[in-house]
Amino acid sequence: MDNVRLVFLGPPGAGKGTQAKLLSTELGIPHISTGDMLRAEVGSGSPLGARVKDTMDQGKLVSDDLIIEVIGERIKRSDCVGGYVLDGFPRTVAQAEGLKKMLGLVSQSLSAVVFFQLNNEAILSRLEHRRGAEARKDDALDVQLERLNVYEQQTAPLVAFYERSGELMRVDANGSIEQVFDRLKSAVKSLG
Ligand code: AMP
Repeated sequence: MDNVRLVFLGPPGAGKGTQAKLLSTELGIPHISTGDMLRAEVGSGSPLGARVKDTMDQGKLVSDDLIIEVIGERIKRSDCVGGYVLDGFPRTVAQAEGLKKMLGLVSQSLSAVVFFQLNNEAILSRLEHRRGAEARKDDALDVQLERLNVYEQQTAPLVAFYERSGELMRVDANGSIEQVFDRLKSAVKSLG
């Protein structure tokens, strides 16, 4: 399967990162996580990292202009010619519009937007598990709740946005990593 440009969308705890890693290995295309990219900037002490650190620690979103620029540079790189999985971007309607514009300039479009659907109870239970398992500063309870709130307010409207454009594909994110991955593979296969 060539040139699969995917966006992974879903609440924190839906397993987007895990599934993105698995699918990128399966398809041999890069997994582009804006969260990982920004954490690397913070870790290296770069000027960009210094700019975004506080915002990230609070569970809020960094500015649309900044993240659109970061992604714009990343998807221009040669490893992206065969496609990619975007994990954690776009997260606002402005970012989705920015992405559409960037792709349009090179006569490209997304193959699909995969929405990982999970009920609230499961989201909270996964986040609770993550609090113990991962050493992420933004996994403290208050920050997790803020991230959920930010998701509801700013990112969830993208479901309707991509439904309207006909790009949305829903995947049930309940169950084991393997079960979800099987569903994801069938969904991606259906793209042809
Ligand atoms: P993540 O690992 O995807 O949950 O991202 C961690 C943090 O990085 C988020 O809480 C935001 O502060 C920041 N971030 C990542 N992606 C974006 C984005 N597309 N727009 C704005 N902020 C982002």
